[in-house]
Amino acid sequence: MSPESHATQLVVVGGGPGGYAAAFLAADLGMQVALVDPEANPGGVCLYRGCIPSKALLHVAKLIEESRLAANWGVKFAEPKIDVGKLRAWKDSVVGKLTGGLGQLAKQRNVKYVRGTASFLDSKTLSVKNQSGEEKLAFQHAILATGSRPAMIPGVPQDSPRVLDSTSALELADVPKSLLVVGGGYIGLELGTVYAALGSKVSVVEMEDGLMPGADRDLVNVLAKRLEKAFQSIMLKTKVVEMKDADKGIRVKFEGEGAKNGEQAYDKVLIAVGRKPNSNVPGLGNTKVIVNSRGYVQVNAQRQTIDPNIYAIGDVAGEPLLAHKASHEGRAAVEAIAGHKVAFEPRAIPAVVFTDPEIAWCGLSETEAQKQGRPVRVAKFPWGASGRAATLDRTDGLTKLVIDPETEHVLGVGIVGVGAGDLIAEGVLAIEMGALAKDIELTIHPHPTLSETVMQAAETYYGTATDFYRPKKK
Ligand SMILES: Cc1cc2nc3c(=O)[nH]c(=O)nc-3n(C[C@H](O)[C@H](O)[C@H](O)COP(=O)(O)OP(=O)(O)OC[C@H]3O[C@@H](n4cnc5c(N)ncnc54)[C@H](O)[C@@H]3O)c2cc1C
Repeated sequence: MSPESHATQLVVVGGGPGGYAAAFLAADLGMQVALVDPEANPGGVCLYRGCIPSKALLHVAKLIEESRLAANWGVKFAEPKIDVGKLRAWKDSVVGKLTGGLGQLAKQRNVKYVRGTASFLDSKTLSVKNQSGEEKLAFQHAILATGSRPAMIPGVPQDSPRVLDSTSALELADVPKSLLVVGGGYIGLELGTVYAALGSKVSVVEMEDGLMPGADRDLVNVLAKRLEKAFQSIMLKTKVVEMKDADKGIRVKFEGEGAKNGEQAYDKVLIAVGRKPNSNVPGLGNTKVIVNSRGYVQVNAQRQTIDPNIYAIGDVAGEPLLAHKASHEGRAAVEAIAGHKVAFEPRAIPAVVFTDPEIAWCGLSETEAQKQGRPVRVAKFPWGASGRAATLDRTDGLTKLVIDPETEHVLGVGIVGVGAGDLIAEGVLAIEMGALAKDIELTIHPHPTLSETVMQAAETYYGTATDFYRPKKK
């Protein structure tokens, strides 16, 4: 039987935050849209096995940590009893609620949701296969939003139930007695934080000389101090050289400064060494689309590929691999297809590590400025001087501004501390609006809040912070 054939103005391949944002905007602009994804509802990695389940579990981790901290304030709770099945069901219900909601939004907008895996027949036709057969979709434009998948390291025992990636770690099959996290980036640290709070003895191994390579050290140091207590060990400048499934665990051999006796056994190992773009889309070779040497689809400022009918957005189109970047790119691509004058040229894309404390930054970091040899001035406000941080018993924080010394424009903002992920939005707005440090200093912030620390950092730039005295340089 020949496959059913349909035609559509726009087909979006991949239902993650890039894909569904694009499909929904296109429908709102009056286009006829199809959205293709293997899952029952849109959501992609972010909703099914990324941002959302991890944040639901991190919320529980935070609650456990806070309940312990409360003993310092004269409120003592008993040690928590963890019902893993119930916790898993709650996390799954959050995912179900949000992805179901997206399914509804697709229906309300008349977006044709096609469940299945797409392959390109040529630059104008897709084939979508699923359990019930095959469908052909002719399109005027396509947006590739196929996202990314966890990267693996060589030498890891294949198919071992003791080896996890971020997807299986979030399934929360059980709470292992001991867990080795390979990779000190944000996914490893977030999931390590979850498992440590649930009772696992967590160790982290990282090849570089610090956690969160690339992020400013003064921000990371505050987090590292806390993680040193929460985790059993953090091995830096250390490499995993061998992993073997054994009777009672998985034996891991290390090399490098943190290797100590060179070998250790763990109940489970989580590999969190980064992600690979899903640019190996079947049939992509039947189009003119070019994939660069790092595996990302090559696009211009409108997110158009070399093939004029095909656009690419989100993780498959390049770094940073973040949901909000994917959604904004998706909206820009749709506007370009609609003929609007548009370019995806943000001044700042925020990044947040949802550990405890959180780290967030946007725009130019101090590290990047140093790398570029660009002169900047950095203004810092330590949370030890924040009234709000004191009331929360969480003075382990720092807010910093990276400022152009000539123009006083705010070029970057970095924050470490509880709620940094929410606080960074002000920094993004400041950079996008071309704010000066003076604008932030003169903006009245509510008291007592952690948001004041952004204003107070600007005050320190001028040497006039009310709550923080720094002797003037002679
Ligand atoms: C554990 C974890 C935590 C994260 N936390 C955060 C966070 O807190 N904040 C944040 O901003 N980002 C976070 N991310 C990253 C975020 O999930 C991604 O950046 C985001 O999902 C990328 O969106 P996307 O639309 O590009 O693709 P994805 O969300 O990856 O979706 C792509 C979709 O395309 C589908 N697909 C692939 N190939 C085909 C095909 N041939 N046909 C049809 N469909 C196909 C896939 O099945 C998938 O559903 C996290 C990621 C992980 C793994």
